[in-house]
Amino acid sequence: MKLILLGAPGAGKGTVAKMLTAMDGSVQISTGDILRGAVKDGSELGKKAEAFMKAGDLVPDDLIMGIMEERLQQDDCKSGFLLDGFPRTIPQANELKELLTRINVELDFAVELDVPRDVILDRLTTRRTCVGCGAIYNVKSMPPKVEGVCDKCGADVVQRDDETEAAISNRLDVYNEKTAPLVDFYSKEDMLLSITATSSDVVVAAIKEKLEA
Ligand code: AMP
Repeated sequence: MKLILLGAPGAGKGTVAKMLTAMDGSVQISTGDILRGAVKDGSELGKKAEAFMKAGDLVPDDLIMGIMEERLQQDDCKSGFLLDGFPRTIPQANELKELLTRINVELDFAVELDVPRDVILDRLTTRRTCVGCGAIYNVKSMPPKVEGVCDKCGADVVQRDDETEAAISNRLDVYNEKTAPLVDFYSKEDMLLSITATSSDVVVAAIKEKLEA
């Protein structure tokens, strides 16, 4: 499958992407994970992106397109991919369209995960992330077995720098202003599946049904 996952931070894109990759060997491509890795490594990309990320602002489009142009042409994408957190602006969506035409790749569709704001706020403030493997936990509903330690890889489980209340509020504003217009963009392209649900199982079932239709 070749899908775009759209939705506010905390809508469940990462969780749904991980469930879908287990179905057919498609790869999850999260620009947020790539950028966090670059910040951790102290690479040029990481140095350029860090301040934007910490504030909850978007990293400039040209940096993101540079990453994605390379990533989408790697061999593992041939078996399918789930774009998690990309595109995030209309210019990114336009450039993605051109890039896919150029490399002769056709998307199935874009999925909008529509989740109420109060659910999102609760999820983001209680979410914890493994610094090693990126596994996602929740202090209320799914804590690691040992506090602060990842069940899967043993690395630290922490609250992300951009999950302070101020950064979360900014990320949601940025989503509404810059990314929400993509729903209309993909609807006009006749490529949108919009799902209003808080359960990842329900979302995955709806995606499966549309893929099989
Ligand atoms: P995420 O993990 O998807 O919430 O991304 C974390 C942060 O990385 C965002 O708040 C942005 O600062 C940056 N980021 C991730 N993906 C993009 C993108 N497609 N365009 C611009 N910035 C991005």
